[in-house]
Amino acid sequence: MSTVSLVRCRSYDPPAIEAALRELLEPLGGMQSFVEAGQRVLVKPNLLMPIRPSRAITTHPAVVEAVIRLIQEQKAEPFIAESPGGPLHNKIGLRRVYRDTGMAEVAERTGVELNYDCAALQVPTPGGGLLKRIDMMSVWKEADAVIALPKLKTHGKTIVTGGVKVLFGLVPGLTKTAYHAKLEGIDEFCDMLLDIVDVVRPPLYIMDGVVGLEGNGPSLGGEPRNMGVLLASQDGVAIDAALCHIIGLDPDRIPPFRAAARRGWWPQELSFPGLSPQDVAVSDFLLPDTAHADTTGDGRSRGSRWITETMTPLPVPKRDRCTACDICVKSCPKDAITIVDRLAVVDAQACIRCYCCHEMCPEGAIDLEFSLLGRILRRSGVLGRYD
Ligand code: SF4
Ligand code: SF4
Repeated sequence: MSTVSLVRCRSYDPPAIEAALRELLEPLGGMQSFVEAGQRVLVKPNLLMPIRPSRAITTHPAVVEAVIRLIQEQKAEPFIAESPGGPLHNKIGLRRVYRDTGMAEVAERTGVELNYDCAALQVPTPGGGLLKRIDMMSVWKEADAVIALPKLKTHGKTIVTGGVKVLFGLVPGLTKTAYHAKLEGIDEFCDMLLDIVDVVRPPLYIMDGVVGLEGNGPSLGGEPRNMGVLLASQDGVAIDAALCHIIGLDPDRIPPFRAAARRGWWPQELSFPGLSPQDVAVSDFLLPDTAHADTTGDGRSRGSRWITETMTPLPVPKRDRCTACDICVKSCPKDAITIVDRLAVVDAQACIRCYCCHEMCPEGAIDLEFSLLGRILRRSGVLGRYD
């Protein structure tokens, strides 16, 4: 039975975070259960984009710093590594991401390294899905252990992002985009996420849910939501299962969780040594609009494409916010976006609804809009997971 530890923590005040983390890890045996003296430990936060911590899009630096200090107490050597989304996986992009997300200050205060090595290596997938090998940041191989620090937030494609999804950030830069193109079907994509979990196998996951992100996450379309909770487990799927209880999700309706269940990874029982999810549950957590969509199409047949085009919202860049910066163009796995008259324009036929553009737009300029038929079906209740 997997164990998930939960504690209340209502602020990012450093002493409060450190005390909460110690309390969180105590039932799991403390940090000494996960790292040993002399080990190099890759600390993997969610650093999707260069954005200030108060937007609740990235793992908060106070959480990262407190985790690093606990690792250092064990005389191990932590370092921070992440590959942000879109075209930012290079030294200049990483410098911006580390600066804006507060990681540069964490590194300065704690003396840890920030990874700038953008090299990749190929790793065989144990699951042997569509991808026989996965490209990963090669720095991952240099670490003795990975400690994953997901953010509690919503996501256009996978509905929520947490323990299963956080390790996708170890796939370098635009290779992520290529995987979106290759694994167009949501089930295939989620199988790949689980393959990465199987390859990396972090000994510890700590989820930052002090302030989460609800609504149209995982970036500027979402809204910060005070949740006041930290979660920890040795099992990333178990953390996601606990999250389902906290925000009232049916795991059968969440693609990565369905994929975990297909593999027999979804926990039938969970042990909560401290607080239970009911103690911190919220009844009105807002899911993304895509949670009301049907994302089962894999784009390979005409029927499947019709499902995608009708039942899932289209990303629509808005003139009042679009600055024609080109980031969505570079992030699109299907070359479905062009800049026309200083406005990004999406080719609805070419778009596979991966929402990388929505995720990476630095202006929050892309809305997700259902077709007229999709809106009618949604209103009538024919379409809709959480209506
Ligand atoms: S939609 Fe966003 S990412 Fe795309 S060009 Fe406009 S501002 Fe840039
Ligand atoms: S337009 Fe956006 S949602 Fe559509 S394929 Fe390109 S990145 Fe994905």
